[in-house]
Amino acid sequence: MTVTDLVSYEDALASYDPVMGLEVHVELGTKTKMFCGCSTELKQDANSQTCPVCLGLPGALPVVNEIGVESAIKIGLALNCEIAEWCRFARKNYFYPDMPKNFQTSQYDEPIAFDGYLDVQLEDGEIFRVQIERAHMEEDTGKSTHVGGATGRIHGASHSLLDYNRAGIPLIEIVTKPIEGAGARAPEVAKAYVAELRELIKALGVSEARMEMGQMRCDVNLSLRPNGTEKFGTRSETKNVNSLRSVERAARFEIQRHAAVLSSGGTIVQETRHFHEEDGSTTAGRIKDNAEDYRYFPEPDLVPVAPARDWVEELRKGLPELPRLRRARLKEEWGVSEHDMQSILNAGAVELIVATIEAGAPADQARKWWMGELARNANETGRGLDELPITPAQLARVAALVAKGDLNDKLARQVIEGVLAGEGDPDTVVEKRGLKVVSDEGALSTAVDAAIAGNAAIADKIRGGKVAAAGALVGAVMKATRGQADAARVRELILEKLGVEG
Ligand SMILES: [Zn+2]
Repeated sequence: MTVTDLVSYEDALASYDPVMGLEVHVELGTKTKMFCGCSTELKQDANSQTCPVCLGLPGALPVVNEIGVESAIKIGLALNCEIAEWCRFARKNYFYPDMPKNFQTSQYDEPIAFDGYLDVQLEDGEIFRVQIERAHMEEDTGKSTHVGGATGRIHGASHSLLDYNRAGIPLIEIVTKPIEGAGARAPEVAKAYVAELRELIKALGVSEARMEMGQMRCDVNLSLRPNGTEKFGTRSETKNVNSLRSVERAARFEIQRHAAVLSSGGTIVQETRHFHEEDGSTTAGRIKDNAEDYRYFPEPDLVPVAPARDWVEELRKGLPELPRLRRARLKEEWGVSEHDMQSILNAGAVELIVATIEAGAPADQARKWWMGELARNANETGRGLDELPITPAQLARVAALVAKGDLNDKLARQVIEGVLAGEGDPDTVVEKRGLKVVSDEGALSTAVDAAIAGNAAIADKIRGGKVAAAGALVGAVMKATRGQADAARVRELILEKLGVEG
C-alpha cells in the first residue's frame, strides 16, 4: 500500500463513518518500579536498574508500589470513573525478549477504574465527550535495540541488545469506549483528547507526560462503517504514536486508507500498524485476530488491591483544579475571548503566561508578548515556546520597564530580541544597546523641529488640515531617534507646532 492508493479525505467521509478507540499508556513518575524497589531514573547504564523481581528470576516475589496505586486512583477520579472496591492484577502471557518474565503483570477483567468520561475542547471551542472504558495498572517492558539493519527494525538486524531498566516501570493504560459520532472531526477529537488527557495527567502531578520521551503514547484504533449503518467495521491499531500532531495524522491516514481498501471491494485486515513521522503514513505490523490468547489469569503472587473508601474520598478531595475548569477561570481573570483562550492553549502558552503574571506582569502584557513576538520567534526557529531562552521573570521585567515608560513597544521588542540572542537579562540589554525612551521634552522638540524643516511639503499638508499626514513626520522623528521617542507625544508635539487640532 502506498500513499497513492488513498482516497481523498472528503470522499472517504462521503461514504463512511469512522469509529475510533484510543488507548493511552502513561508512564508514572514514581521513584521506584511498580513491583520492586529498583529506581526508575532515566538514561542510566543499561541493565543497571534491575533486580530478581523485574528480571523475572524464579522465586522472586513482587510487592505493589503504593504510589502507583494512588496515582491510578487519582487518574480514575479525574476521569470521572468508578473506583473498584476490590480488584486484582492478572498475568498477560506472551513471549517477547524485552519481557523477561514471559508475562506482563497487568489488569484484565478487574481494572482499578472504569466507566468514566473526559470532556475535550475542539479547536472551535465545541465540547466533545469521550467515554472512558477503563484505566488499569500495569508495568512497562524492557527495551530492545536491533543492531546491524538499515531501519533499526528487527528485520535485517544481525543481533539485538536488551536493556531491562524500563521493565517494571509503572504504567497506567487508559482505554476509551468506541468514539462514535465525530464524523470528519474524528482526527481532531483524537488529538484534542490526548492533549486534554496530557494536561490532566500533568495537573495531577503523577507524570510529566512528555510524549517525545515516551512517557505518554497512544494507540489509535480505527475502523470505518458505511454511513447510516451500525455495525463496526474491522479495525486497525496504529501503535505507539508519540505526538499530538501524529495522533491526528495517523487517524486521518487510516480513514483514507480504509476507505480506499473498502471502496475497491477489499477487506481490512485486523492488524497493528506502524506510524511514520516523515510522511504521516502507516505500514502493516503484525496480524492480530480476536482469538489472540494471552491466557490471562489472576496474579497469584500479589494480594488484591482493595482501596479503602475513605482513602479514595480523601484523594478525591485532594484533586487539583482540573485543566478545563482552570482554563475557564483564567479566561475570566485575563478577560480574553474563548477564541483567544483556545489559541493560547493551542500554542502551549497557558503556564508561561501564568508564570509571567506571577512574576508581576499585567495579564494583557504577559499574553501579548507570549502570543505575539515570542510565538513568532518560536515558530520561525522551530521551537516550543517553553524552549525559548527567555524566562517568565525576564519577560515580566520587560513589562515593568514598559509600564514605567522607560521602554515603548518597539524598544521592548529589541530588548526581547537581545535576551533571546543571549545578551543577558533585560536590564543588561537596555544598558548595552542603549535602549531608552527619549522623554526629554527638549530633545523631542528639537527632533520634531528638524522633521518639520526637512519635510516642508508634508508639513504644509498638515497645516492645510490633512492630519493623517502627521504619521510620516512621526516616522521621521522615530527614525532620527532610533525608535526611542514616545510616538504618541511626538504626534502631539507635531500637531501643536503646526497649529492643528488633533
Ligand atoms: Zn527490580
